Amino acid sequence: MYEDIKKQIRDVKDFPKKGIVFKDITPALADAQCFQSIINAFYDRFKDKHIDKIAAIESRGFLFGATLAEKLHCGLVLLRKPGKLPYKSIKESYDLEYGSAALELHVDAVKKGEKILLIDDLLATGGTMEAACKLIQKSGGDIVACTCLIELEFCNGRSTLEKYASVETFLRY
Ligand code: AMP
Repeated sequence: MYEDIKKQIRDVKDFPKKGIVFKDITPALADAQCFQSIINAFYDRFKDKHIDKIAAIESRGFLFGATLAEKLHCGLVLLRKPGKLPYKSIKESYDLEYGSAALELHVDAVKKGEKILLIDDLLATGGTMEAACKLIQKSGGDIVACTCLIELEFCNGRSTLEKYASVETFLRY
């Protein structure tokens, strides 16, 4: 069903380091028809879910998150890398293959009981999305789903996330 979108996802071997096959979404964004198909796929999946806010993960999650929030007529909040948000924030660290990373969220971005859709471009191990889930839960938000355009099934991220919410992806590898 999403074969036309899949054709516009480019594999870049050994980026950003040896052994990684990077899924480059820029050709899909550059093609007007394809970008629209991606947004429509997200829209059709979530249009009846009464989402209050989309929480988008820096940085490629912002591209889909912002466009979809406008179409769903819901709010947009940003999960950013450390030191980028100007106001008082909460932080959640997580492990990477080498070292660690973290996400931050403004303390007042999500209100108790709000229905939140988490979005990013790609799900691999699920570490990034899990940190995002923890931030939304700490803020009192109700996570409707974790969604990504792409899922790398061999990384098993889905099993980490299913205890937080349903996991909704479109292109699987
Ligand atoms: P993870 O925390 O392992 O689920 O990794 C997901 C995050 O890292 C997302 O924000 C992705 O944009 C990025 N990412 C991880 N692996 C890849 C990959 N093979 N191609 C493109 N982006 C990736």
